[in-house]
Amino acid sequence: MGKPTGFIEYKRLNKEELEVEKRIKNFNDFHIPFNLDIQRQQASRCMNCGVPFCQSAMKVQNRNVGCPLSNLIPEWNHLIYLGLYEEAYKRLEMTAPFPEFTGNVCPALCEACCSCSINDDAIGVKANELFLIEQAYKNGWISPKKNIKRNGKKIAVIGSGPSGLSCAKKLNDNGFLVTVYEKNDRFGGLLMYGIPNMKLEKQIIERRINLLKEEGIVFIKNTKVGTDIKMEKLMEVYDDIVFACGTSAPRGLMCKGSDAKGVIYAVDFLKETTKNLLDDVDFKYNLENKNVIVLGGGDTANDCCATAVRQKAKSVLELEITKEPPLENTLPWPNYPNKKKTDYGVFECNTIYKKDIRRYESTVDEIIKDENNNMIGVNIKKVKFENGKIVDIPNTKEYLPCDYLIIAMGFLGTSDSDALSYNIKTNKNRIELHDFNYDKNIYVCGDMKNGQSLVVVAIKDGIDCALKIIEKYR
Ligand SMILES: Cc1cc2nc3c(=O)[nH]c(=O)nc-3n(C[C@H](O)[C@H](O)[C@H](O)COP(=O)(O)OP(=O)(O)OC[C@H]3O[C@@H](n4cnc5c(N)ncnc54)[C@H](O)[C@@H]3O)c2cc1C
Ligand code: SF4
Ligand code: SF4
Repeated sequence: MGKPTGFIEYKRLNKEELEVEKRIKNFNDFHIPFNLDIQRQQASRCMNCGVPFCQSAMKVQNRNVGCPLSNLIPEWNHLIYLGLYEEAYKRLEMTAPFPEFTGNVCPALCEACCSCSINDDAIGVKANELFLIEQAYKNGWISPKKNIKRNGKKIAVIGSGPSGLSCAKKLNDNGFLVTVYEKNDRFGGLLMYGIPNMKLEKQIIERRINLLKEEGIVFIKNTKVGTDIKMEKLMEVYDDIVFACGTSAPRGLMCKGSDAKGVIYAVDFLKETTKNLLDDVDFKYNLENKNVIVLGGGDTANDCCATAVRQKAKSVLELEITKEPPLENTLPWPNYPNKKKTDYGVFECNTIYKKDIRRYESTVDEIIKDENNNMIGVNIKKVKFENGKIVDIPNTKEYLPCDYLIIAMGFLGTSDSDALSYNIKTNKNRIELHDFNYDKNIYVCGDMKNGQSLVVVAIKDGIDCALKIIEKYR
């Protein structure tokens, strides 16, 4: 199988990207796809391992290793190499309900534990996945499943993020009558109103939603369950209710002045930016010529930096409370690497502002505002971790002018007010579950169950939740 010497003959290639100065002029995807010959060559690097760690879906020290969906990676790599793209796609769709989402935004857990990465660069699995799904749409290999035999059971799925969508699809494919409720004006959850357009263009989500509608799933938007429609009403109509509402409570900033105008939460900022972009109206949070500080150092913070530089911010600074990660990976294969990485948004800011915009072991001490409650600056300070606690380092305070402080410090779970409106009990924002089950007819999946995670994990969780319901009615 495969080209036995592909991994020796060809080096890994990454897709080319538009140069920073050009791509920050808009919010479009900036990756340039491979041509067919290169795509096949890259697929031929796969060694078709006897034990393919790439698809293993393991947990090592409670961290995901290998593709959580157990995608049949060596098989479709081989078929791409042979030029049998439709056959390759058929293998992909067996396990992956939405490869166009993961092919764009997954951190490629498969590649991190690819055997080839032990002493060379991993196989470009994610690029192969995206290639296949785009070929499938282009060549009409995807069509809505019709004439599904219905079993008469009605299910409400609350939330249209990746976990809600994968749960709805699995149930619908198995004959259930599924209605998805979404509080926003567009479907997709954080795929739509979190992850920025340059990382996942929004027509890609709409294309999939249209397909799911054609397959029979009913979608209702602008409807918040718990307030616009009460739980009692849903319980009367549906046999089961699946909550896939994500994490609604962001971790807040506790410091003097944090009620100032100009303090915004990352997801609000990213949501409004995408919404304004799609609706073609002025940005609600317009960062042009503003001094911006992003508080947090994860993927969300990175997306905020990328969005700020596209909005022509005057300056962008990222404050991270943790230590600077090591330059060399400290975790052995097959773990996901632990080392400093410079993601696309920080890279763009570093290029435009001509310096590394990150400061480690730093946080905001106080927000300085004018008499109208507008933020004008912040005092920042250096901190360190001592016995698991954050401790200030004396005499490190520094004043920085700041018009917008974007809070990207993660999420706590389900907010108390939301839990109350769902008639669900939480303990420190977390719902206590038996497997996916809260109560006889109430299920929970995705980030709402696991805490903030990844798109691929949410998709897998939605499928597993659906399987529990399917099992119940067997
Ligand atoms: C800025 C940002 C960038 C990210 N980037 C990546 C990335 O690049 N790669 C990756 O793998 N992961 C990424 N993630 C994480 C990933 O987006 C989430 O793990 C994933 O979306 C969780 O899916 P979910 O379906 O559980 O919840 P969500 O995507 O949060 O969807 C929940 C949905 O439920 C709706 N809802 C909530 N309450 C109600 C209600 N009462 N009634 C009706 N609807 C309701 C919400 O409006 C929302 O649409 C990112 C997260 C953020 C915040
Ligand atoms: S979903 Fe993610 S982990 Fe799985 S094959 Fe695709 S890129 Fe790899
Ligand atoms: S681990 Fe890497 S080389 Fe081995 S089968 Fe998977 S993708 Fe191919």
